[in-house]
Amino acid sequence: NRYTTIKTHIDAAPKESDFELMTAPLVLSLEPGSADIIVKNLYVSIDPYQLNRMKTYSPTHTLSDYSLRITPAQAIEAYGVAKVVVSGNPEFEKGELVVGLIEWGEYSLIKSGGIISKLDPMGFPLSHHVGILGLTSGLTAYAGFFEICKPKKGEKVFVSAASGAVGNLVGQYAKLLGCYVVGCAGTKEKVALLKEKLGFDDAFNYKEENDLKSTLKRYFPEGIDIYYDNVGGEMQEAAVANMNRFGRVAVCGVISEYTDDGKRAAPDMLDIVYRRIRIQGFLAADHINVYADFMSTTCDHIRSGKILALEDISDGVESIPSAFVGLFRGHNIGKKIVRIAEE
Ligand code: NDP
Repeated sequence: NRYTTIKTHIDAAPKESDFELMTAPLVLSLEPGSADIIVKNLYVSIDPYQLNRMKTYSPTHTLSDYSLRITPAQAIEAYGVAKVVVSGNPEFEKGELVVGLIEWGEYSLIKSGGIISKLDPMGFPLSHHVGILGLTSGLTAYAGFFEICKPKKGEKVFVSAASGAVGNLVGQYAKLLGCYVVGCAGTKEKVALLKEKLGFDDAFNYKEENDLKSTLKRYFPEGIDIYYDNVGGEMQEAAVANMNRFGRVAVCGVISEYTDDGKRAAPDMLDIVYRRIRIQGFLAADHINVYADFMSTTCDHIRSGKILALEDISDGVESIPSAFVGLFRGHNIGKKIVRIAEE
């Protein structure tokens, strides 16, 4: 069994050389009486938050509480789709598909009580269940937009990292609701995709702009009602400076701050007070209550062609480091997934 791990903790922008591929003997049997299962991993999710788990432990850093920390040489847990090869658990049978927390490797041992459930692909490609129909992208976009932003038709919505896994979906949900939507992304090609394929009203390349506050003023002359923040930093400050009264900022993630410990968004507090702006962070896992709505709405929209599933798939366990590092260099377009094996 080959799996990816970190060589040391990573406290800056990740590089491929921070990772290594480990090999361990593959044991396809369980102790008698064990309720564990062994799965063959098929598709794994590549998510920016994993970097926060790879950092050196700091007792004052809330990042350390976000989720279990990753230590060097340890197999790295990640969301994904897999097939059961050995089961000691009567709820799972050999050959069944499952979705949940597996590992960045070829096989995973899922301990009894692990976060895993049976998967009915419902006619969709398995990769969709990691991305657009999965928890870390699809549900995040849906819950963050509908539950946290409380959008209304006609409102003006700004989305950062808009060509990414979460951002592109937020923009598509917002357009379906009848909002005016502008996204930003880091290349010309991504900007063209947002406008031409995903139906955004407008989009811009933030790397070509010097003064983000005036850029946003140009795109939102009447102000922003909702900012779906994936990046934090100066973009958050510029968005808050352009928010309307009673505007909402959903802080989904702050990727520009993950690679730079000294960087923190400092939006103008007086703007927040006088314009009664609500800034709220959230985790998708807190919104399982909307999971059924999310699935039925999103499946319908994919089937009717109203929502496009944007995926960026690489092949093989050995491609995990470059796939992950690429998130912080803007290489991915849509949900970054690694296909470990065909079903
Ligand atoms: P993406 O698919 O959006 O990939 C990351 C993208 O972020 C890159 O392609 C790049 O696009 C952009 N980016 C990278 N570095 C920077 C930077 N320094 N400044 C601005 N943009 C940058 O990832 P996800 O959709 O999976 O995640 C998006 C955000 O949502 C992240 O912050 C993530 O941590 C968060 N998240 C939060 C969850 C929650 O429950 N709250 C769950 C899942 C994700 P570009 O070319 O535009 O620069």
